[in-house]
Amino acid sequence: MYIIGIDIGGMSIKGGVVDGANGTIVCKDSVVTKAAAGIDVLAADTAGLIGALLGKTSLKISDVAGIGIGMPGTVDSKTGRVIYSNNIRLVDAPIVEKLRKYYDNIPIEINNDANAAALGEVRFGESKDYKNIVFITLGTGVGTGLIVDGKLIEGNNSAGAEGGHMVIRVGGAVCTCGRRGCFEAYASAAALVRQTKAAMQKNKDSLMHKLARERNKISGRTAFLAAAEGDKTAAAVVNRYIRYVGEGIVNLANIFRPDVVLIGGGVSNEGDALILPLQEFMDNYCFGIKNGNPRVLVKKASLTNDAGIFGAASLIVSSVK
Ligand SMILES: [Zn+2]
Repeated sequence: MYIIGIDIGGMSIKGGVVDGANGTIVCKDSVVTKAAAGIDVLAADTAGLIGALLGKTSLKISDVAGIGIGMPGTVDSKTGRVIYSNNIRLVDAPIVEKLRKYYDNIPIEINNDANAAALGEVRFGESKDYKNIVFITLGTGVGTGLIVDGKLIEGNNSAGAEGGHMVIRVGGAVCTCGRRGCFEAYASAAALVRQTKAAMQKNKDSLMHKLARERNKISGRTAFLAAAEGDKTAAAVVNRYIRYVGEGIVNLANIFRPDVVLIGGGVSNEGDALILPLQEFMDNYCFGIKNGNPRVLVKKASLTNDAGIFGAASLIVSSVK
């Protein structure tokens, strides 16, 4: 069974043909996202990308089980409409209906990218044995995908599962959503960069200055790299950042009590330097853990670079089943 997975992001639209049985990507390609160009251009560019993908294989669209699409924002998976996406600048846009002009006889499913990524871990990743998953992406923002008893939790009009916008600090830093103190405002890669810059301002002798000069930028990696070299200022930034992420995932774990919390997104590439202290935090603070409640595992998401494509394709696997 072949599936087309489309991962629409603020910078690029990535697409791949996924072999559903083997869980492999047969071929992939991408085009630049024209974020301000509107829904018709987005649909045309997506259709163009799908055409290019089919052209690279010997497949016809009729050989494909369906097209799955993941994208940031609030996406009503039942009606196929993007309710609101800040990154792609769409409001109430009927993307599935627009794509039907190109592909009228094939299942097309769409969902929020974090929801899709969570399903992707279950269908194609290393979480096939788990029924309860909290998936978190630590990227530009903080996205969450929640799977409870094997089902994706989306809420009314698919507007739920926005764990990034629970407050972890009352009256804290301003969030992109307009509220103060959201998890996202402390735990995103963008927040980590802000925290790193603030620490560098105060500590001119930190190794982070040298690393930032060498790499020509201050990134989410800067503090982790310097901390690994023994820089105390950087270690303090990393420890506090991990505390922020830890408080957020313990909150989510206390509500949903998952088998596992999966961490994806750019910051997850820090690997054990991030995951092991988060596991320790979870083991210390998750509700009732000292009194016999089961452990909640913390793991790095298994589908790294192609998580978006696999996640989008997984929407079709679930609709076929
Ligand atoms: Zn927020």
